[in-house]
Amino acid sequence: MSTTTNGPARHRSLGDQTWQDQAVCQSTEYHPVDPEIFFPEPDEMDRIRAAKALCRQCPVRLTCLDAALENNDAHGIRGGMTEEERTLLHAKLATRLDYSRVNATLAGRDIHLTHAERRAVIHAAYRHGLTEQHLARLLKVTEEYAKKQYREIRRALRNRDVEQSRENPPPPEADGKRLRRDDFGTAA
Ligand code: SF4
Repeated sequence: MSTTTNGPARHRSLGDQTWQDQAVCQSTEYHPVDPEIFFPEPDEMDRIRAAKALCRQCPVRLTCLDAALENNDAHGIRGGMTEEERTLLHAKLATRLDYSRVNATLAGRDIHLTHAERRAVIHAAYRHGLTEQHLARLLKVTEEYAKKQYREIRRALRNRDVEQSRENPPPPEADGKRLRRDDFGTAA
């Protein structure tokens, strides 16, 4: 991946395109850009270099890259990466677990989450004691769905406790007191 001085990705709200206002590839009267350089053939190195040079200066490069990945936009140069360079990232997106996205969602932002990030939001909401109604609002889901998620967590926690107590049973006790070695008889 190219190294740049661009800042961290701004997490877009769903459907938000306003970040494009800051895109360096926007052609203007004073800053003409040939859009074709962003759709080069793999061997058109001059175009690739020219497009990447613009991306390196772009303040929304990481947001642009996120948008391409989340929208499964595999066409052209996006966020400073060619189609070929993005292939692996596209494949890995489903397993992304970015806690800054989880925290942004808990703070009320409506942003793109992977399945793993949604699970993390649900677990964090449960741990922090958010109501099902609150969780439903954060994830834009029904209250029924939020209640079901909490029920599943409670069930998983109960099962985990039972499993742990099987693996680490409490020490045997007699008459409420811990047994001592002598209690097993002199043969021990
Ligand atoms: S990173 Fe590149 S492709 Fe994306 S908005 Fe910026 S200049 Fe355009």
